[in-house]
Amino acid sequence: MDEPALRTEIVRLNKIIQALMNRAERSMSIGESDFSIFQTAIMLEEQVRRRTEELEAALRTNEKILRALRESEAKFHGLVDQSLVGIAIILDGRFSHANPKLASIFGYSADEILRLGPLDVVVENERPLVVEHLRKGIAGETKDTPVIYLGLRKDGTRVHIEVASSPMSVAGRPALIAVLTDISERVQAETDVHMLNAQLREMATHDALTGLFNRRYLEDTFERELIRAARQNRPVSVVMGDLDHFKAVNDTYGHQAGDAVLREFGRLMKLHARGSDICCRYGGEEFLLVLPDMTEEKACERAEQLRTAIADATIMFDTSAIRVTASFGVASFPRHGKTGDKLIGAADNALYAAKESGRNQVRAA
Ligand code: GH3
Ligand code: MG
Ligand code: MG
Repeated sequence: MDEPALRTEIVRLNKIIQALMNRAERSMSIGESDFSIFQTAIMLEEQVRRRTEELEAALRTNEKILRALRESEAKFHGLVDQSLVGIAIILDGRFSHANPKLASIFGYSADEILRLGPLDVVVENERPLVVEHLRKGIAGETKDTPVIYLGLRKDGTRVHIEVASSPMSVAGRPALIAVLTDISERVQAETDVHMLNAQLREMATHDALTGLFNRRYLEDTFERELIRAARQNRPVSVVMGDLDHFKAVNDTYGHQAGDAVLREFGRLMKLHARGSDICCRYGGEEFLLVLPDMTEEKACERAEQLRTAIADATIMFDTSAIRVTASFGVASFPRHGKTGDKLIGAADNALYAAKESGRNQVRAA
């Protein structure tokens, strides 16, 4: 028998005992005595005693259960309150429950967050997604995969959050329980790694001073260009350029002025290049231009353009106006060689000839 049933039984038995005692008293007062009534009353009293004992035992059990319940509830609350992730119950588009971590993720107090809902804590353009997420979540259509949102804190700053949710019911009404993690640090670390990788890629393939491709990159791609050209039966030309009397520029204006000249050479080279051309700083003041699909004749025209551009340029460094010239050697695939080494060697020889004939000129191999 459970506790309420025992109480009812005890009340009922006590009423019967009372009635029997009344009857016994009445029969005694008219000179009769009915022992059977007394006997019944005594028997019933014995039953009341047993029932009372049972009731006390039931109360003690109830007490124990209640205490255990209270303890487990306290443990549960402790767990939720001290959780390192935000936990919320979302009911009718609002946070009907939120743990302290959830409030702190968004910079609100525990009371403030309960006046808000999920739409208030994401940036505006994420709101349609949240509406969709809530609808699907309540309908039980969402997969287990967490969703990442750009959250909006009370002070207007942004926070990257990852949200996993599952449907539940609160007093028969559909609700969602959501677990939110602040992943800003993780996102920042990922961005840093991406940027670092991009920087490393750039450093591995580019020359830091001019921003042109470096020799290593050229060696990797030039052979590929040649294979493609051979397969498609197309020409490839190379132009090797070298600044004239560059040592004298360094000696006259200083090394930093020399660097400025190298940068300007690189800039002009890029300015006169097509998207498919490979502009490369080959050595100290030597530059190499790979021109896919370009004949020797066209390549000589291009080198001539570049030669003129450099000869016409005035490079300002501090108060100095520096003027330089450059010499160029041109070679083409397949005429002057079938490998990268052969072609570069042929262009280098042509460049040497240009230097020998007085510099500031273009020579074909
Ligand atoms: P030529 O007309 O025969 O080419 O004469 P040149 O003086 O240009 O040739 P040389 O090979 O004698 O000298 C090249 C100079 O380029 C020497 C070197 O100090 C300078 N140089 C190489 N790399 C850099 C650099 O990164 N910055 C600066 N400022 N100078 C550099
Ligand atoms: Mg030189
Ligand atoms: Mg040189």
